[in-house]
Amino acid sequence: MVVGLEVHAELNTKSKIYCSCRNAFGLEVNTQVCPVCMGMPGTLPTLNEKVVEYAVKMGHAMNCKINSVCKQDRKNYFYPDLPKAYQISQAEVPLCENGYLDVMVDGEEKRIGVTRIHIEEDAGKLLHDDAFAGSLVDLNRCGVPLIEIVSEPDIRSSAEAKAYLETIKSILQYINISDCKMQEGSIRCDVNVSVREKGSKEFGTRCEMKNVNSFSAAVRGIEYEFKRQIEVLEAGGTIMQETRRWDDAKGMSFTMRSKEDAQDYRYFPEPDLLTIVVDEKKIQELKEMIPELPNIKIRRYVKELGLSQVDATLIAEDMERSSLFDTCVEMGKCKPKSVSNWILADIAKFTNDTGKKISETPLTPQKLSDLIEQVEKGVISNSSAKKVFQIILSTGKAPLDIIKEEGMAQNSDMGFLENLAKEVLANNEKSVTDYKNGKTNALGYLVGQCMKASKGKANPGIVKEIVIKMLSE
Ligand SMILES: [Zn+2]
Repeated sequence: MVVGLEVHAELNTKSKIYCSCRNAFGLEVNTQVCPVCMGMPGTLPTLNEKVVEYAVKMGHAMNCKINSVCKQDRKNYFYPDLPKAYQISQAEVPLCENGYLDVMVDGEEKRIGVTRIHIEEDAGKLLHDDAFAGSLVDLNRCGVPLIEIVSEPDIRSSAEAKAYLETIKSILQYINISDCKMQEGSIRCDVNVSVREKGSKEFGTRCEMKNVNSFSAAVRGIEYEFKRQIEVLEAGGTIMQETRRWDDAKGMSFTMRSKEDAQDYRYFPEPDLLTIVVDEKKIQELKEMIPELPNIKIRRYVKELGLSQVDATLIAEDMERSSLFDTCVEMGKCKPKSVSNWILADIAKFTNDTGKKISETPLTPQKLSDLIEQVEKGVISNSSAKKVFQIILSTGKAPLDIIKEEGMAQNSDMGFLENLAKEVLANNEKSVTDYKNGKTNALGYLVGQCMKASKGKANPGIVKEIVIKMLSE
């Protein structure tokens, strides 16, 4: 299997790419429009500087060479959602090129080449309604800024494709240049798939699949296309280069059109826009704004902090989780693995159940660190810690205060006392046998041993109950 991906991501700039209309989703149809984005003759586009900055940031995040001088081109085609009958894009010289992205797949690092990242405008949207015989056109999306990220054909499995797409999504969120709302179509991808015999150096003929609107659909589409092509070849047929439409509901792809070549689009330099020139100082400034990215974090969590790849990914992909995790680890009060367990179990359950973000709760890195520290020091048991956690969330009190107020230090902590009694019983087999043979005074001896083991801190009444219960088992 040989796969290349073209990812389109809508940028979350305030205004559109070539006019000052609002860049927003879900508003009344044809209200966020002006003569420029409606493609009226005689209007002139003006490039939104932020779009260039956002794309350069993504270029840095994907280790690309940034072309400080580049231009924009017209890609000509007709469709009812494109009133100008051309899309302004970048053909020969993109803003960013020759990069790569390292992703983790099944615990192994995989490098996927990035051919280019260019800027372009989105088209409008066709609306179909059963109540109406034709199609309706909404131009609100015309001129919404996009970046297109084109990968090298380096992907060899659907799992690699998924890891690549998920990494791109989390990077877009980390550098905050896209809303990444899949359901609103803010990330879409075209999938190129070909097959070749194992060991063969030459690529087979590829088919492009459009209309892939989710990462899971991409995985299904790739698997389907992989099988389809092998079946065609094994039956003695040949693969035609074509564009196919993925129908996720049917789980099948259908021929859309024979593949168009670049010349069919009659690309030529956009005469209404100036050459883009980004000065080197600006390029450097934008590079310095890139934080530690999720794929780099995953590697660090696995290699340096000993987390599993699954846990590392679940934490790194979410900025809130990773910020909490990183701060707790920096405080150095408790083990990274314990912090990870808390974040992925109790904290994840709470945020999922309530729909709240961690930052909307009274839980701070300080409080979480203090709480885990008390468990690791043996002051409170895990089950008490869960109670303390709930009290922190509802009252915002500090864990040490809660432990004191609730009298949770081990002397009345069931979990702790049970472990202690278990140990004492294991070390005093003779007394246990005596007790079972009717020598009831052995009980007093065993309780005394437990009290001794707890250095006198245990509650004798509770200890006695526990010991009797254990002896009867
Ligand atoms: Zn406009």
